[in-house]
Amino acid sequence: ASNTATMTSRKPQRNGSSVSLPEFNIALLGVLGVGKSALTVKYLTRRYIMEYDPYMEDTYTKHECIDAQEIIVRIMDTYDREGSDPERYLRWADGIIVVYSITSRQSYEEARNYICSVLNYQNKTTREIPLALVGNKMDLERYRQVSKAEGSALATEQECLFYETTAAEDYQCVETVFHGIVKEIQREKERQMP
Ligand code: GDP
Ligand code: MG
Repeated sequence: ASNTATMTSRKPQRNGSSVSLPEFNIALLGVLGVGKSALTVKYLTRRYIMEYDPYMEDTYTKHECIDAQEIIVRIMDTYDREGSDPERYLRWADGIIVVYSITSRQSYEEARNYICSVLNYQNKTTREIPLALVGNKMDLERYRQVSKAEGSALATEQECLFYETTAAEDYQCVETVFHGIVKEIQREKERQMP
């Protein structure tokens, strides 16, 4: 079994003891400008902030309650600069969200490459990493370059979850992505249990 299955956090209790909370490490991958930081901030704060430092990379923690279970979600908002080692993210992650923008065909083509690099890593390490493909900026319908059917087809082909989202408007669609990948990781952890 993978060591991620046993990774937990200690949560202090009123009586001084502590309980272990399961942890879920989720990394967001995708080319610059697709909305990885916007989605991360939206999920963490329910707010949409227009401008972030595009070269910023950070990891955030959120306590969550999913299906009546208290958990800790860690999110790595990446910035994939040239020459950076994508395996660094994959080693850390229990699950991956690959993001493209529905307004950029190039970002969609790159999403395929990101998915392939995750699958290559999986084959090499024989560790299953649940994957979600996300077409972001669905509020910019009039600038759409990638149809929902194309996004869905890529996800079906690569056997990953698929969502379209907007970080600018609806919170629910963003939460659905993160909860979806957490549940997929949970299923994967259960499969690894002896
Ligand atoms: P990153 O490089 O993938 O982290 O992309 P950012 O999160 O920095 O977003 C790049 C730009 O796209 C910023 O100006 C954001 O405000 C904008 N943006 C991100 N998500 C959305 C979205 O869902 N809708 C719209 N209209 N703009 C978005
Ligand atoms: Mg960013």
